[in-house]
Amino acid sequence: MRSVLPFAARLTITETQAWLDALRNALPDCDVLLLEDATEAQRAGVEVAIAANPDPATLKTLPNLKWVQSLWAGVEHLLAETQDADFAIVRMTDPHLAKTMAEAVLAWTLYLHRDMPRYRAQQDVRLWQQHPTLLPSQRTIGVLGLGNMGKAACQTLVQHGFKVCGWGRSPTSIVGVETHDGEEGLDAVLRQSTILVCLLPLTPQTRGLLTEETLTLLPNGASFINFARGPIVDTSALLRHLDCGHLAHAVLDVFDEEPLPQESPLWSHPNITILPHVSALTNKQTASKLVAENINQFLINRTIPLSVDKTLGY
Ligand code: NAP
Repeated sequence: MRSVLPFAARLTITETQAWLDALRNALPDCDVLLLEDATEAQRAGVEVAIAANPDPATLKTLPNLKWVQSLWAGVEHLLAETQDADFAIVRMTDPHLAKTMAEAVLAWTLYLHRDMPRYRAQQDVRLWQQHPTLLPSQRTIGVLGLGNMGKAACQTLVQHGFKVCGWGRSPTSIVGVETHDGEEGLDAVLRQSTILVCLLPLTPQTRGLLTEETLTLLPNGASFINFARGPIVDTSALLRHLDCGHLAHAVLDVFDEEPLPQESPLWSHPNITILPHVSALTNKQTASKLVAENINQFLINRTIPLSVDKTLGY
């Protein structure tokens, strides 16, 4: 018998259709349909659903739901909105996504490393002025978060010749990277990072982690890249550090509110580069293939893939 797989999504019509096409293509032996189109009888039999910004109320209409496959790597909203539910949440851990993120980290690290914001500003005033270039080995890049994204980013930066140090919750080792954990570990990473890259999940512990005080630990003239989640950094504190010249530049892909409101001062700040949450967009083909592997495994032997630890929040 074909399994019914409801897709619970709050996306544009075009995006929803594109995901349905990719998921149906990857799961030809299942009936992938919009959750709102499932009959009551179909809903009663559902044990696994696929989700992309779902309306949590719709998931409650699945009485036998055992787990939800998220199409996103960050699941803080889904976790917060389904706190009382007892189904497991499996997030997107596509190696292609990690590779895409590592590419973005390298691209924007090089943007800062090669002084591109400064040369762009010089072009605006027709100023012809050269500045010395550091070797990658003279530059320490700090990476906060050493999971799928952080590890891939560290490896790519090391391959490029940068000195890399990283910080995670528990001890980890990555070839060529000085790794740290715990509160003291964070201090050690911040103190030596001339470019700091944030790749942490947003959890109760990481919300507001980068404050006025913690940012003070960064060396003078350091830059910051946030490819994780906006609320991990105190935006007002970040602005103060940029305005007083302690920090040189920030590349921000994620914000407290998205899309970034028109009236936000971040848009026009000369030392901020804004990206519209694009550092690692989920690739529909590779992600659907991974979703299909997880779901087929479950249908064969009832194994639920490694799911989010609801106490830790990631
Ligand atoms: P992950 O595999 O779960 O890794 C999370 C890392 O953060 C782990 O190293 C973990 O430490 C560490 N960590 C968690 N809580 C911590 C804490 N309190 N103190 C110190 N370290 C802590 O997650 P991932 O797949 O790498 O993704 C990370 C985040 O990237 C996602 O949650 C999402 O928000 C963001 N993201 C953004 C985009 C984008 O386009 N902007 C795309 C994809 C993902 P342990 O190793 O000890 O567990």
